[in-house]
Amino acid sequence: MKTVAQYIDSLRERKLRLWVDGERVDDPVEHPKIRPAINAIAATYALAHDGDEDTRRLATVHSELIGERVNRFCGLFTRPEDLIAKLELQRALGRLTGTCFQRCVGLDGINALFIATHKRDGHQRFVSWLAQVQRQDLVLNGAMTDPKGDRSKRPVDQPEQFLRVVQRRPDGIVIRGAKLHQTGAANAHQIVVMPGQGLRPGEEDFAVACAVDVSADGVTMVLGRQPSDDRRGGPDAGNARFGGQECVVLFDDVFVKNEHVFIDGDVEASGVLIDAFAGFHRASYGGCKPGNLDVLTGAADLITRLHGVRRASHIRDKLVEMAHLTETIYGLGRGACGKCSQHDSGIWQVDRILANVCKHHVTKLPYEIVRIAEDLAGGGLSTLPSLADLDHPELGPALQTVVHSRERAQALRLVESLAYGAGSVPFRIECMHGAGSPQAQRIVLERHIDWDAKVARARVLAGLDEDTELAEIS
Ligand code: SF4
Ligand code: FE
Repeated sequence: MKTVAQYIDSLRERKLRLWVDGERVDDPVEHPKIRPAINAIAATYALAHDGDEDTRRLATVHSELIGERVNRFCGLFTRPEDLIAKLELQRALGRLTGTCFQRCVGLDGINALFIATHKRDGHQRFVSWLAQVQRQDLVLNGAMTDPKGDRSKRPVDQPEQFLRVVQRRPDGIVIRGAKLHQTGAANAHQIVVMPGQGLRPGEEDFAVACAVDVSADGVTMVLGRQPSDDRRGGPDAGNARFGGQECVVLFDDVFVKNEHVFIDGDVEASGVLIDAFAGFHRASYGGCKPGNLDVLTGAADLITRLHGVRRASHIRDKLVEMAHLTETIYGLGRGACGKCSQHDSGIWQVDRILANVCKHHVTKLPYEIVRIAEDLAGGGLSTLPSLADLDHPELGPALQTVVHSRERAQALRLVESLAYGAGSVPFRIECMHGAGSPQAQRIVLERHIDWDAKVARARVLAGLDEDTELAEIS
């Protein structure tokens, strides 16, 4: 398993074609807009080597595939407790970094791919590739979301809006297209390309899942801008240490060798993949987001202490509300992981309904929690001068009294960042759209809830039908 230093070194060995604000960046590792996101991933490596045994056990898992302990972000869910451990690790990392640590799409993706390729053509190739990923402890950028263009049109009607196979050769395939919202792409080693939506017969060219090296010819990454991202690395960053990252990834006729092609032309397998992935990833938000919310609640609590109002009953009540909403999301994530079932492939899957209810709450409750945090923080949240002014030898002393304390200023900056600064992208906006926008969860719920069973029981208790379930009670 890689250490933090080995991970950072491994990033320098890549030959990325990366653009940031209209300029090529050859070494992203020291770039102020990228380094905080690298640091957040580095936390996943740090915990795997932590001095505390319980933490190490959470951050690593025994791989039956290679017969060694591996970083949990490369592991398969081969035991029911692996799902709970994943969630606990996500909450811990969400609290430690206050942001997105970017490795879960890859983790949920490999487990979904194991299920989707089971008893199909690409399974052995996938398993051989995964063994290498585990040995090398790689960061995988799970790439699902296509640009999609006009949502009323199918991929065949606008192929340029979807990643697709444009050539099949004896030694591999050539893919073309783009993937959007690519979490942590510029900090990854490999891209795991997967279809982004259900496909129909006739759409086989879009039914492709494969692994691509980030340095492969034809791969270009463009860093997404985030609010206040010019503050990163500076005094007003808000989160002084960590950040998230989203990229556009362009695939301009990228060759993928056969060994790294796991699904090609199988629309049914693509459907299984998307369904499995959606379950895993919607439950994942019950881990990372509560961890981020712990940080927001902590920052709001700190500000109320510094304001001398912590003991006021309405303040206490608001903090309790923040915590209770946070634990609601976490409880649903735990529930989805606890109520799991084993797929024929051996992988344990979360409860589909609870995972979708979890993610659906994530599209709502954090917004209310942010509202309370803004209430508790006060107007200084949005009017505070730069901390550079506070540090200025001439201006600083006068400003100190006005700002109250550097501690207060930095706590306000942290709330600001999470509420609507750079930290709000991996936190708030991702709460809305990550792992599927709200309607996607409602569609799954409508499809999988047993409506007839509810009606049947209602009919019995309304006296319309015989009670066959509790027939012995007269
Ligand atoms: Fe992981 Fe959460 Fe980031 Fe998704 S949003 S990659 S689940 S930390
Ligand atoms: Fe996400």
